Amino acid sequence: MLLPHNPNAFTRYPFDRAAHHRRDAAWLGRALAAPGTKLIPFHKQRPFVIDEGGAVALGWLAAHARTGIARAEATTLFLGLDEGGAAHFAIDVPDAAALSDLGRFDDLRSFGAILPAADLPLLGTAKSIFEWHARHGFCANCGGASIVVEAGWKRECPACKAEHFPRVDPVVIMVPVIGEKCLLGRQRAWPRGMHSALAGFVEPGETIEEAVARETLEEAGLRVREVMLHSTQPWPFPHSLMIGVICEVVDDHETIDAHELESARWFTRDEARALIAGKHPDAFAPPPFAIAHQLLKTWALG
Ligand SMILES: [Zn+2]
Repeated sequence: MLLPHNPNAFTRYPFDRAAHHRRDAAWLGRALAAPGTKLIPFHKQRPFVIDEGGAVALGWLAAHARTGIARAEATTLFLGLDEGGAAHFAIDVPDAAALSDLGRFDDLRSFGAILPAADLPLLGTAKSIFEWHARHGFCANCGGASIVVEAGWKRECPACKAEHFPRVDPVVIMVPVIGEKCLLGRQRAWPRGMHSALAGFVEPGETIEEAVARETLEEAGLRVREVMLHSTQPWPFPHSLMIGVICEVVDDHETIDAHELESARWFTRDEARALIAGKHPDAFAPPPFAIAHQLLKTWALG
């Protein structure tokens, strides 16, 4: 697929999602028995990894390993087809001990930044969906137990026939700028010196522009004049879509909302460059893994 440039981690899904196969039970059964098919196990939303000569690699297993690690009804998510046409699945494994001789289940947040970039959108997708399954076992319409259908991409209620789809929560994340200054905030719980973009969930009935304006006013007391979409990022903690924005504001003071921020601080463009390079004397920004870094970088180098 031809897509615009996107600098963010968890983007550029490497497979053809081949969604038309999700409802085809016969095709899925054949794919799960095919010799070229691969499975990535998950346990409690943590992917299976192996140590390979000092580096961490994903612990893909051959499809025939499925019977040894999980029962037939284990949630199995069809991730798509690679360039050679081989099917790939993620499987939710109830018992971590079944694979403890081969590797370990680890938190994506702790090692994601050192994995090959093409692995991240696969893991992020599977993590978000398994997280959703774990929290949505019961029908929101009638309260009955729901079941997994369509190769992991949907739940259905056998009692009332309601369909339930995986949720994605849109979040606006923005760097307010005026002239040669940008504003970054910090939350009390963050490591000392860390500053980042402002962010908040989009509310029902709101445009992205309105959400940016509301959150920027609520958190920092700044009025927004213009909203420039930078890029977006699926963020699987647990299932957000980060909508990255650089916004021009009309005020150059700030009044912080102490419930959300501990402080906010203006940085010059030179200081922003130092933050990106990790050379600022008393502040630091999130790593390149986070969209906040990419927003700041674009403005700093612009
Ligand atoms: Zn129901």
